[in-house]
Amino acid sequence: MDDRLFRNVMGTFATGVTVITTEIDGDIHGMTANAFMSVSLHPKLVLISIGEKAKMRERIKKSKTYAVSFLAEEQKEISMLFAGQLKEKREAEFDRLNGMPVIKGAIASLTCNVVAEYEAGDHTLFIGEVTDMRFQEEAEPLIFYQGKYRGLKALKESIPS
Ligand code: FAD
Ligand code: NAD
Repeated sequence: MDDRLFRNVMGTFATGVTVITTEIDGDIHGMTANAFMSVSLHPKLVLISIGEKAKMRERIKKSKTYAVSFLAEEQKEISMLFAGQLKEKREAEFDRLNGMPVIKGAIASLTCNVVAEYEAGDHTLFIGEVTDMRFQEEAEPLIFYQGKYRGLKALKESIPS
């Protein structure tokens, strides 16, 4: 089956955009990801899917913890930075939640301990038990749809009432 067709089809499933962060001996690593889902309420579990070539994969296997930050509409450049899509290296600003690094200005953040991991094709699924979380009510999310960044406002305006 064709890879481009698969990506085009998957790209029609609109998602938010997250940055996954983890820290080993004071060294913070971040990675943009949209393969995120909420899994269970009791206990509170979430899931991320990390490609076999991503440096993040080995880092999480070592740290056994990760944080997830949901990006706000104006944080497209942060997404590009942590996806390796910017030409120049930039400093990133982090806040702390439960002692872990999270993206400053994100609309929501949560921290997790890894409770299970599954190899699935060319990705590893990391199930995380949520240890802390916070969100801001007013902010709008960054959206990824058909391989492009969008804003919810523009999407809302395009929906006929
Ligand atoms: P690198 O490629 O080395 O790092 C990523 C980038 O982040 C680099 O530019 C690096 O300089 C920067 N960076 C890292 N830490 C810091 C720091 N502390 N300060 C400043 N900059 C830093 N891949 C998946 O496996 N799963 C997904 O769900 C997924 N979803 C994606 C969604 C979108 C919208 C996009 C655009 C990409 C997605 N990717 C996903 C691809 C993934 O983001 C890239 O392949 C990424 O480059 C892999 O990161 P890495 O861990 O290999 O590290
Ligand atoms: P794209 O057209 O490649 O992505 C559209 C959709 O396809 C994504 O939302 C995702 O659901 C799926 N997808 C893309 N690459 C995948 C992969 N390697 N494994 C599983 N699903 C994948 O969008 P783009 O703007 O060209 O993406 C930028 C880069 O980020 C590409 O290199 C892409 O492979 C990568 N990416 C990876 C994932 C992932 O690993 N889950 C998700 C999104 C983007």
